[in-house]
Amino acid sequence: MPYSLILKKTLIMRGTFLLLLMSTHLVMGNSNFWSKTGHRVIGDVAQQHLNGKTKRAITKLLKGQSLAAVSNYADIIKSDIAYKNFSSWHYVNIPADKKYADIAPSPDGNLVTGIQKCIEILKHKNSSEADRVFYLKMLIHLIGDLHQPLHVGRLEDKGGNDIQLQWFGKGSNLHRIWDANIINDYGLSYTELSKELPLLSKEQMREIEKGTILEWVQESQVLANEVYTSVNKGEKLGYSYSFEYWNTVEEQLQKGGLRLARVLNDIFG
Ligand SMILES: [Zn+2]
Repeated sequence: MPYSLILKKTLIMRGTFLLLLMSTHLVMGNSNFWSKTGHRVIGDVAQQHLNGKTKRAITKLLKGQSLAAVSNYADIIKSDIAYKNFSSWHYVNIPADKKYADIAPSPDGNLVTGIQKCIEILKHKNSSEADRVFYLKMLIHLIGDLHQPLHVGRLEDKGGNDIQLQWFGKGSNLHRIWDANIINDYGLSYTELSKELPLLSKEQMREIEKGTILEWVQESQVLANEVYTSVNKGEKLGYSYSFEYWNTVEEQLQKGGLRLARVLNDIFG
């Protein structure tokens, strides 16, 4: 075979490989959840703020796995019909002008009742070990979801899922941009990202760790309202949007991690 033909063949093969890579990336980018990386960062930050007693209890329950390693479990089980009762736990819809206390909680459960249930089971001395492991994994994930503002979005647009937008020339939506696009396009691994988070003073950390689940929900709702006004339907977004909101994304990941540690230390410490 002439050299030029071999070269051509190699280039075509490389092209196909790249296309394959790109399409798997696209499929992964389609999922509607705070990106896998985001949840892992939150797990990693929390891990660094567990007290000794909590660390020991969790290491035992998770058989040595890290919080980051199990942080996406609640999303992975969504594909199994046996767990369909938990799918409404990942979000809570609150109208823009209402507070959580004003809405009737969904009978299937929502992000708030889900978190409360996890805490209750983990605190109860008669809970089985299997339940403790399951609800611990759920809790690690749900505290993460609570800090993606559009998981506290509005019902009429499914937390921003129905707000179609362009992200670097490709179709996306507001929910997905906040779940995954901004974080994934930043291009860092979860450990790199977690190391890159701004250093906080003890006072700043204490300030973040303060509060109740409902106050954190309220805070995410305020942020969600701001995010809703940050775009117009069909808008073409890219670098400047990422640049504008990157600090907010980092702040949410850091808050998620510190508060997850606080909740876990309250339960086990
Ligand atoms: Zn989720």
